[in-house]
Amino acid sequence: MMTFVLASNNKKKLKEMNDILSRDGYSVISMAQAGITSEPEENGTTFEENALIKARSAMRESGMPCIADDSGLEVDALGGAPGVYSARYCPGSDMDRVMYLLKNMEGKDDRAARFVSAVACVFPSGRETVVRGECHGEILKELKGEGGFGYDPVFYVPEEGCTFAEMTQERKNMISHRANAMEKLRQELKSIRNEEE
Ligand code: IMP
Repeated sequence: MMTFVLASNNKKKLKEMNDILSRDGYSVISMAQAGITSEPEENGTTFEENALIKARSAMRESGMPCIADDSGLEVDALGGAPGVYSARYCPGSDMDRVMYLLKNMEGKDDRAARFVSAVACVFPSGRETVVRGECHGEILKELKGEGGFGYDPVFYVPEEGCTFAEMTQERKNMISHRANAMEKLRQELKSIRNEEE
């Protein structure tokens, strides 16, 4: 059985990844469990680059296969912003960033947006694989719902008839950008499994 290190300190992400990958007999441990102490600067210009930067750095420190993800929100009317800068769109809290987004969207008729998640996997052999998952939606003009985090209260998914913040965690985990990316990673791992074990 192969053990991956998740290059993130986010406990929720660790549980989510473990839930998904344990179905295929993999286990996922934290950076702390792998003895990793340093974190690289995320200076890539794409989600894929940032995910690879994190996974490569963790692999170099641990010598184990490592997984990392990078995600964010792309809004068409803003030329793809906040994109890789989603977590640092403006100073302050998640709520400050939501309000800043709404302000920048004032007067914009095109509300199309997507959440993107890139997941990279880097092996000690040097093999690298990176996949991308997306979830399409629209930016509302006001907040709806109490759940989730980040931009969830203004991200409306037409097929579901509600925002990410109004969905149950279970439902979000089935349709989210991260869920889509993880499903692609599972397929990739299936095809390279024999060569890396
Ligand atoms: P990361 O953890 O470095 O990938 O940062 C991702 C940032 O994108 C977060 O801080 C949020 O602002 C935003 N983001 C990513 N995924 C979601 C989501 O599922 N809901 C709301 N915001 C998200």
